[in-house]
Amino acid sequence: MDVFDILDRLVAFASVAGEPNGDIAGWIASYLKERGAKVILLPGPEGDRSNLFATIGPADVPGYILSGHMDVVPAGEPQWTSDPFTLRRQDERLYGRGTTDMKGFLAAALAAVPALTKLRLARPIHLAFSYDEEVGCRGVPHLIARLPELCAKPLGVIVGEPSGMRAVRGHKGKAAARLTIHGRPGHSSRPDLGLNAIHAMASALSAAVSEAEQLAQGPFDPIFEPAYSSLQAGVIAGGQSVNIIPDICTLDLEARAIPGVDPASLLAPVKARAEALVPQGYVVGWTPISAYPALSLPRDAALAALLCELTGEAPLAAVSYGTEAGLYQAAGIDAIICGPGDIGRAHKPDEYILADELAACQRMIEVLGARCAA
Ligand SMILES: [Zn+2]
Repeated sequence: MDVFDILDRLVAFASVAGEPNGDIAGWIASYLKERGAKVILLPGPEGDRSNLFATIGPADVPGYILSGHMDVVPAGEPQWTSDPFTLRRQDERLYGRGTTDMKGFLAAALAAVPALTKLRLARPIHLAFSYDEEVGCRGVPHLIARLPELCAKPLGVIVGEPSGMRAVRGHKGKAAARLTIHGRPGHSSRPDLGLNAIHAMASALSAAVSEAEQLAQGPFDPIFEPAYSSLQAGVIAGGQSVNIIPDICTLDLEARAIPGVDPASLLAPVKARAEALVPQGYVVGWTPISAYPALSLPRDAALAALLCELTGEAPLAAVSYGTEAGLYQAAGIDAIICGPGDIGRAHKPDEYILADELAACQRMIEVLGARCAA
């Protein structure tokens, strides 16, 4: 099977984030087993979806992880020219949901496996494919927790998110949470008997707005755009009718943090303002939605030098999107981003990848393999 055949199979598994993924994970596991890799499926606590970890070469020696996610965002946009889950080739472009983000990388890695297994690898190459990345990196923490029993501590992780095959050393961290305020319903003519959840939320919302304004004053990290941490209210919902005292209001918030700042800590002032309403009789709920830390690989790290050699260009300092790389780094393993395709095509109708981009990625992985050979 070449990289196109593999991508064709991968795209055909819808594998939308938040859904069971036994079909795609099972197919990849058997592909790898048939080609001599050691494979383990690592079911997550949900019970119906798994991470996949595979090793080519000796697992007890430090090697490299190629990291990707098997899930994709939904493809409900009406603008798709053809079925998003059927790979369609038109000249150099291969269209389908996930071609760029990031089944193209998975396909290139899988297509390189026969070449890797032929080499006598002195250092192993591992594949770490996660689930539910697109709903806030929910799958990969369970894989990272199991790494110490799966392999010697790796020298580095290459996260194959679309970066135009240019390595990237940094991104911001992120935390998202839902704030829920419960009041007491009633007829709007008797506000004295109820507790208006929307009015209460106004207080928390204004805390979010002033925190956002405050963050724009710094601290700054000039490699990012914008150069400061940020916060926004993204979704607000509550109320049923203009003459009913609303008994519930929810607010979804996210914060993006420069390296050195804990993204969850940026949301804390909003949570505190909401909790200050409790003595008035409101019930306040706070549910973390997702979080991942910032990535900041030093310019002089060995992994940065390796990627400079493999790609022929110095790694970029930062990108604006987040990845699982920050979670690997937080676990003490150097991580860097490098994958095929342009992030600008991701999460959009008619997502595509170029045949050349897949070939370049497969070549990079094969060159990495040659460097790991005895
Ligand atoms: Zn992705």
